[in-house]
Amino acid sequence: MPGKPAIFIESTIHAREWITVATATWFINELLTSDNSQVRELAENYDWYVVPVLNVDGFVYTHTNNRLWRKTRQPNANSDCIGTDGNRNFDAHWMENGGASDEPCEDRYAGSAPFSEPETKALSEFVASIKDDLSIYLAFHSYSQFLLYPYGHTEVESPPNKEDLEAIGDVFTSAIKNMAYGTEYKHGTTPSLLYIASGSSVDWAYSEMDIKLAYTIEFRDTGRHGQVLPAAYIIPNSEELLAGLIALIDKAKDLSYI
Ligand SMILES: [Zn+2]
Repeated sequence: MPGKPAIFIESTIHAREWITVATATWFINELLTSDNSQVRELAENYDWYVVPVLNVDGFVYTHTNNRLWRKTRQPNANSDCIGTDGNRNFDAHWMENGGASDEPCEDRYAGSAPFSEPETKALSEFVASIKDDLSIYLAFHSYSQFLLYPYGHTEVESPPNKEDLEAIGDVFTSAIKNMAYGTEYKHGTTPSLLYIASGSSVDWAYSEMDIKLAYTIEFRDTGRHGQVLPAAYIIPNSEELLAGLIALIDKAKDLSYI
């Protein structure tokens, strides 16, 4: 229904991050079927846009050929190497400050131009068409147990609402830590916890679409299993996401973003 605040979830732009698909589809099922009053509140008070698998060709390839494939499957002109890193392909400081490569054989190849990939182009056009309704943009990734906020392209500049992004990060990580699993997430900017990453979807949503709550969530684990996280962790990871999300949305309401 029009008029409700909307939340966008982009999942599996990186093909090998299988826990993101499982968690996104688990979460959709919760929204549709759960009797839990907090979940019903989420389902009924917001418009949800969930793209459970953005990089569909890459995801298929991780089943048929290479479990650890990351990029899209588009051929590149003048190279035998296939694919682009979708999360370096957005038109936000594209290829400016590092963390992305101009070499098609690299895992972090940024593409021949911003939005060279059909996946990122279609996503960006759709998000742009609904941007005025969107209060929150989330991108699901793995692994590391991080909640990351802008900017990814620079360590020098901070986003204008950094304090709020931090405060929301605090409640997200505490909600997860307080569960029986006791899992620890950290929060911070992408460069502070990982590395510079220019041309990411979350930077684009924040800077170009003016969606002031934009986060990348890096799910379980911290490296023991890495991208080949056993299926037994799907439910715990999903439950943590749900608890974190309830806290995040609550705090966003407190701070008048919704
Ligand atoms: Zn990723």
